Amino acid sequence: MRSISVLGATGSIGASTLDLIRREPDKWRVVALTANGNAAGLARLAIEFRAEIAVVADENSLPDLREALAGSGIVASGGAAALVEAATRPADITVAAIVGCAGLAPTMAAIEQGRSVALANKEALVAAGEVMTAAVARSGATLLPTDSEHNAIFQCLAGNSYDHVRSITLTASGGPFLDWTMDQLHAATPAQAIKHPNWDMGAKISVDSATMFNKGLELIEAHHLFPVGLDRLKIIVHPQSVIHSMVEYRDGSTLAQLGPSDMRVPIASCLAWPQRMDTPLAPLDLAAIGELTFRAPDEERFPATRLCRLAAEAGGAAPAVLNAANEVAVAAFLAGKLPFTRIAVVVEQVLARYAPPPPVSLADVMAVDAAARAEARSVLELATK
Ligand code: NAD
Ligand code: MG
Repeated sequence: MRSISVLGATGSIGASTLDLIRREPDKWRVVALTANGNAAGLARLAIEFRAEIAVVADENSLPDLREALAGSGIVASGGAAALVEAATRPADITVAAIVGCAGLAPTMAAIEQGRSVALANKEALVAAGEVMTAAVARSGATLLPTDSEHNAIFQCLAGNSYDHVRSITLTASGGPFLDWTMDQLHAATPAQAIKHPNWDMGAKISVDSATMFNKGLELIEAHHLFPVGLDRLKIIVHPQSVIHSMVEYRDGSTLAQLGPSDMRVPIASCLAWPQRMDTPLAPLDLAAIGELTFRAPDEERFPATRLCRLAAEAGGAAPAVLNAANEVAVAAFLAGKLPFTRIAVVVEQVLARYAPPPPVSLADVMAVDAAARAEARSVLELATK
């Protein structure tokens, strides 16, 4: 029996993870489950999976959580410190599935324990960069990439040396607006942006897929996970989302990982690693899919990947600033307060206005994140005046 904690249990990745656990009840013991404010949803999961502890990040939701868990024997807890405490509880594997930089502190806490961390929460790695990779090296933790592209790359790299890698190519679906004109993009609504053609995901990452910030963040994520040098990292648009990424070697061999566009595949790969486990998905039917197509990204209509590459090249605090600005801009877009095409403009402006020294600790990263958010909000205010 293995023990598991799921940070962000009520989200899309959390649900996919728990769906796999539900199918193997005698193999797993659930330690901590966390959510932001959905006390009722979290309590339901905690009771179903007989978790040790359930934590809401938003302390205002703690009374509801306590009430829902009364008499269950499950510890109810709330707030940022409780989230970190839950993440440090012994578990064989922790799934980091909180959205945004909000997941950074608990993810770092799990890493510091030196155990296995399945990382879906890309914003945490983008913001913390070397601060996180250094913590992984120091603690001896095993970071298992859960993002489908990075999980694909991780699988394609198995048994090979970075010395032999010619390039790594991240595939991008291109999102729901792949063929939209600039005029159409200006008028894009939140409802249109969160309707992804291939994947069923949380709102924030769905908007990131539509702007291509998701792929840009993934480029920075790959840069930290697979240190082959930024110039060896490429992006290609592949609308069918069947090939999840590829590694090309010096002898001309390219290895790719293919699979259904369902996050249970990469999550299962992390949960079972270095073994394999069953998933309930139908086998890949390539004859039914028929065609796999590819095209170069269009950075005129979708400038996000260019901005992310620049931030990765600048290094230091730039990726944390970019990530924070994007989180604020996406929230403004989702609230109907910012046009879709202004998201990248806000990010570019914040990067130009705020260039702090490189963070060297978790506290530094969180301070940069907070200051960049404030800067982004002031840029947004200027934009709407
Ligand atoms: P989601 O919005 O569906 O779920 C987010 C989870 O985080 C929820 O449990 C929510 O309660 C919790 N949360 C939100 N704000 C929080 C806060 N301030 N403090 C603490 N907890 C908070 O998101 P998702 O789609 O599951 O994505 C989660 C992460 O995984 C993101 O970083 C995303 O980029 C990454 N990811 C998602 C997918 C996907 O298919 N959904 C694929 C690859 C990577
Ligand atoms: Mg991805």
